[in-house]
Amino acid sequence: MSLSSPSFAFATIKELKERLARREISSRELLDFFINRFAQHDAQLKTALEVFDAESIFADTAATQPAAQGLLSGIPGMIKDNICQKNRRMTCASKMLKNYTAIYDATACERLKQEGAFLIGRANCDEFAMGSSCEYSAFQKTVNPWDVSRVPGGSSGGSVAAVAAGLVPWALGSETGGSVRFPSAFCGTTCVKPTYGHVSRSGLVAYASSLDQISPVARTVYDTALVFSAIAGNDPKDSSSLSAAQKDYTKNLTGVLPAGVRIGIVDNALGASGIEPEVVAAIQQAIVAFEKMGAQIKHVSLPTLEYGAATYFILSRAEAASNLARFDGVRYATRDKAASTLRDMYCNTRHDGFGSEVATRIMVGNYVLSAGHAKDYYGNAKKVQNMIRHDFISAFKEVDVLLMPVHPAPAFPLGAFDLDKLQMDLQDFFTCPINLAGLPALALPCGFSKKPVLPLGFQLVGPDLSEELLFQVGHAYQQQTDWHTCHPLAFAE
Ligand code: GLN
Repeated sequence: MSLSSPSFAFATIKELKERLARREISSRELLDFFINRFAQHDAQLKTALEVFDAESIFADTAATQPAAQGLLSGIPGMIKDNICQKNRRMTCASKMLKNYTAIYDATACERLKQEGAFLIGRANCDEFAMGSSCEYSAFQKTVNPWDVSRVPGGSSGGSVAAVAAGLVPWALGSETGGSVRFPSAFCGTTCVKPTYGHVSRSGLVAYASSLDQISPVARTVYDTALVFSAIAGNDPKDSSSLSAAQKDYTKNLTGVLPAGVRIGIVDNALGASGIEPEVVAAIQQAIVAFEKMGAQIKHVSLPTLEYGAATYFILSRAEAASNLARFDGVRYATRDKAASTLRDMYCNTRHDGFGSEVATRIMVGNYVLSAGHAKDYYGNAKKVQNMIRHDFISAFKEVDVLLMPVHPAPAFPLGAFDLDKLQMDLQDFFTCPINLAGLPALALPCGFSKKPVLPLGFQLVGPDLSEELLFQVGHAYQQQTDWHTCHPLAFAE
């Protein structure tokens, strides 16, 4: 088998593990193959802020004492640049941290290395994970491998586009309001946003700490479950970590739907105004597929769904304002050394370091937290957040999982919302309510738009800690459909 065969580029982790076991290829050759994929294609796609050299990648994993038969032994993947990799630069795609080198591994990275994974580089993203298109990176704009005039979605656009283009078989992104599911739907990949607290946040740079979750993306449910198995489970280094134990979530993936599973179609999501008919039609097809597979289809409504985006807007900005206060040139950040007073040093450091989107969010955040306004904005948003969670919990009395869109339309052109930031903020309409409720969700592809041809997706949402059920349902769907096997031809080799 030639190493330049595209079948390596789009092979699943499961297949790559089998091929490594059969000694069709060595782990070093496989690593070189993927490093070479970046050399071939990333000048166009701009998914990576850095690809490390093979020797240092090997040495990094070897130094962590990987298990002999790790879940990801010899499998390369990429890490969003807001997650610490020891002794590697980590910038959050911001000028503010352009010279920062991480001094420890995020728990997720440490666990991945223990499972034998090779961490190949740093993925581009919107600055400090704030954005929906990957256009707010201070360094470069990642593009969509299906159509390079379109965005890959954000903020984890680099991680997701790299997986979609066959540059790596898996990657880590982070979710606060939809940042992995949303690009995943735009690029035709599969991903999971874990239950809040199921994956340690230790080593993830905080955006809105009460919502942030590291989230894996891959090309199949099976592979997503595999990466999730490596990183999930309790971590004493994260005070919000749940007590869930680590386990292998691929063990019970039989390919058959759990008997009698009840899937709730969220009618007021599928019928939301502005959703494109092609998205609805693709999701209807998925519903028919589930029905044929034996699922009980029910119809539910989430009355507070439409308040999600406004609530998220307030809470995410409030938490961002307080989290990003640490980037001041004293505790963190590239300091303005020319300033002659302390006040100027603070002001110049923050003015020069933050891009305009991040600066705007900090100002909005401080406003909604300020004396005289906090009760009206932050206080009320917290109340609505409780109502949103309550709606989901009520729905789970009737059904086991919910099925709803990820996004009302396929990927939009670069620059589409340059003059309309509100539209950009509304991109999270179907995703952020789930982050606000703290629930897990699995996003997967279910078709294509016709003109232009772009991937479309849907998501399955479950109760707290129901990732295993979501994987079973999603994996069964992928045994009956082949949307997840489609790849952008331009990057076939
Ligand atoms: N688009 C959302 C935002 O800009 C979500 C980002 C995220 O999930 N990190 O806040």
